[in-house]
Amino acid sequence: MKINKREFLKYTGIIGTGLITGKSMTSCTEGSGKKKITGNKKPGLILRFKPYTLQLKHSFNLAISSRTTTPAILTEIEWDGITGYGEASMPPYLGESIESVSKFLSSLDLQQFKNPLLIEDILDYVEHSAPGNSAAKASVDIALHDLAGKILDEPIYTLLGLNPEKAPDTSFTIGIDTPEIVKQKVLEAEPYKILKVKLGGGNDREMIDTVREMTGKPLCVDINQGWKDRNYALEMAHWLNEKGVVFLEQPMPKEMVDDIAWLKEKSPIPVIGDEAIQNLSDLLKYKDVYSGVNVKLMKCGGIRAAYIMLKTARTLGLKTMIGCMTETSCAVTAAAHLCPLTYWCDLDGNLLISNDPFEGIKIVEGKVTLPNGAGIGIRKI
Ligand code: MG
Repeated sequence: MKINKREFLKYTGIIGTGLITGKSMTSCTEGSGKKKITGNKKPGLILRFKPYTLQLKHSFNLAISSRTTTPAILTEIEWDGITGYGEASMPPYLGESIESVSKFLSSLDLQQFKNPLLIEDILDYVEHSAPGNSAAKASVDIALHDLAGKILDEPIYTLLGLNPEKAPDTSFTIGIDTPEIVKQKVLEAEPYKILKVKLGGGNDREMIDTVREMTGKPLCVDINQGWKDRNYALEMAHWLNEKGVVFLEQPMPKEMVDDIAWLKEKSPIPVIGDEAIQNLSDLLKYKDVYSGVNVKLMKCGGIRAAYIMLKTARTLGLKTMIGCMTETSCAVTAAAHLCPLTYWCDLDGNLLISNDPFEGIKIVEGKVTLPNGAGIGIRKI
């Protein structure tokens, strides 16, 4: 549905006075871009959620774990007949679960908020409801931005003042696997201009050599904390540089701070922090340890927090990247609205699952292309 912006602002009481009279929110009607308000009560926000298990197309093999499903929770925030969609995805290392996210979301009272455009007020309340719970908070943040965009009939990137044409090429992830499977994945990655290869499984050179047999595309590598020796890491950084790798992501365990800082100083290619940098406070803490940061909505708590992190990182002279977990097209497309603030983006989490309930971003000539439409722009399948 659409209402024009002036109608909405009047309705929510931002401009004008005494415009809302009558009985209840149930007597609101809509049609042909106009909203007739006959209720005496502005509606509050209604939050709904349900668990959803993401089925992975391939077993997801990283340096320190392997899995075939990811637990998720799909959220909806409804306001006056308009629904915004959100999502929490919970890969094991984040420490959240169906139970913890359900408990957090159940504790929220969004009915108290009558104006969904006061995003700062609402998210402040959500943030201070309990510490942590970043994926749960992201699920509210994403749904709220989708809702606000739909109300204003604008995509989220416009609400943020970003130019979607400035999005960089996005990468496709190739997990640690046998040469046969790696080759198959390189073929699947045909539309992409940059590939992200997972390393740290003990077959680093075989992985890269296998990919290089198939393609000369630029590569980035994500070690997911898999290397334990800084001398090996530096040797690999030089070797990978010669193989056309453009950056190393989280090469060693996040606790090896001094070793990572040492590597960053000596490495010919940038060292990006992922597991070590969950939120803005981590970013400030490790600004001299890494060359850049991989920002993800599930780590930092949503679009608003990610925007602030990306702007801060750029101000500090750090490289910026936006990534995702295995997620539906809801959260992946939401993250894609922030691509104009990044040097690299890695938004293929939706392509790794076989039961995506939404249709969202598409990859056209290696770039993220956002769907037409207000809010996130996704469509339920
Ligand atoms: Mg990573």
